Amino acid sequence: MITLPTDLRDIALRPGDDGFADAREIFNSRTSENTPSVILGARDASDVLAVARHAGETSTPLAVRAGGHGVDGTAMPDGALVADLSGLTSIDVDPSTGVVRLGAGVLLRDMDAALIAHGLVVPSGTVSTTGIAGLTLGGGIGYLMRRYGATVDNLLSCSVVTLDGRLVTASERENPDLFWALRGGGGNFGVVTEFEFRARPLAREVAAGFLLFPLDQAPEVLAGLREYLPRAPRELAVVAALTQCPPLPPVPPEFHGRPVLMPIVVHSGDPSSVPSVLDALAGLGRPVASAVAPMPWTEANRMLDVIAPPGRRYYSKGGYLTELDDATIDVVVRNTASAPAPSTPPLPSTVQNLWAMGGAVSDDVAEDAMAFSREGASWLWESVTEWDDARDDATYRGWLDGLRGELTPHLRSNSYVNLSTDHGPTWRRGVWGSPEKYQRLVTAKTTWDPHNLLRYNKNIKPR
Ligand SMILES: Cc1cc2nc3c(=O)[nH]c(=O)nc-3n(C[C@H](O)[C@H](O)[C@H](O)COP(=O)(O)OP(=O)(O)OC[C@H]3O[C@@H](n4cnc5c(N)ncnc54)[C@H](O)[C@@H]3O)c2cc1C
Repeated sequence: MITLPTDLRDIALRPGDDGFADAREIFNSRTSENTPSVILGARDASDVLAVARHAGETSTPLAVRAGGHGVDGTAMPDGALVADLSGLTSIDVDPSTGVVRLGAGVLLRDMDAALIAHGLVVPSGTVSTTGIAGLTLGGGIGYLMRRYGATVDNLLSCSVVTLDGRLVTASERENPDLFWALRGGGGNFGVVTEFEFRARPLAREVAAGFLLFPLDQAPEVLAGLREYLPRAPRELAVVAALTQCPPLPPVPPEFHGRPVLMPIVVHSGDPSSVPSVLDALAGLGRPVASAVAPMPWTEANRMLDVIAPPGRRYYSKGGYLTELDDATIDVVVRNTASAPAPSTPPLPSTVQNLWAMGGAVSDDVAEDAMAFSREGASWLWESVTEWDDARDDATYRGWLDGLRGELTPHLRSNSYVNLSTDHGPTWRRGVWGSPEKYQRLVTAKTTWDPHNLLRYNKNIKPR
């Protein structure tokens, strides 16, 4: 039983309290059996300070919940003391400078809506119910990464509550070692209450949608994408999804539920150049549907919400590819063909996404500039499997474990921490890149959280 000081009792929910069940709910229902001991719903940074002081003084490990989207469920561990930041939803935009301040509980959908009203954007992720906090602390990639880089490449500073109970700023000028580590090192170093970004200009409307190819065309189309993307404009994003086709309006009914290749396309540049780009993509094979059209940015950046609803059982793995070679293509296509059928049609149960890197995310920021690693990655492979009944766990997890096992020889040792479940200490030593980068992270951890109270994460152990 965790005993709380009086100043925290007002914001505490324990098992059995009204509101506890709702507060405990997170995106991945596979972790919903976990029962934290206490959830502390922060109303502002001073509540977070009180929570961190209490954790520090009593040596109690502290979990942090922001958007609640993390697949590992580290936001709500069994028996834990949880700082729930989902109430910190302030959004402050200065249109004259493009500087944006976001509370740690902001979701991508609310950020996108508030910023695009000013013709601005912070490049982030592709599912609108994701939290900006966990996404940024891991790196943050999405449809604008080739144009504007990863989310962390646009971060100016963080307000951070430390485990010895101080509120500090981390930026290039103040506590630069902490700022370096926070940009990709996850929630290992302190509790971030606010993020400050430099937003970028974006038209309110972009061209977005998908092309659809039968699976037997996937090898030639993926090989064509491999050649085309390095020459393509930075404004073009392609996420080549291999999945069980959802019943979308322009898709002929005979393809519904069948394994297909579905390149998701977002073009955020000059509309007059879109037709030639689409012709080039369609010309890589013989698409059976093409549904790329102008749409508001806020719609484009939630196209994938429909296949990632909260409350299902989720499992995910990912890794960087040096190249999308023929052997890799063979593995991903074969495993799409042999994937278990959807558990709850018409929702798909298995998706493999091949994200084209390149442009700003690959070329504009040095590998050692921050913890987030991108070195040598021309594609990111990522797979998510989702289902509803615990009795099907072995089927879907088994498929993805087998696929990842087969793909491992093709994956780099560095990776994007947010788009994979944790693979343990050896994986974590390589995931941020070079051994020197990992040692720098260990040093930052030892400085800022020497007792490893923030351990519910892709954990870096202090010395
Ligand atoms: C369906 C799906 C789609 C996704 N799509 C994308 C995508 O397009 N691009 C992308 O980059 N990522 C994507 N992700 C991954 C996503 O970025 C991570 O899951 C991220 O951790 C979610 O952040 P959150 O705040 O919602 O999660 P939470 O579960 O609340 O947080 C995850 C962990 O981050 C740490 N943390 C969170 N907030 C703080 C804080 N303020 N201070 C200290 N530590 C903190 C904690 O360790 C916490 O356990 C996707 C995930 C899913 C499940």
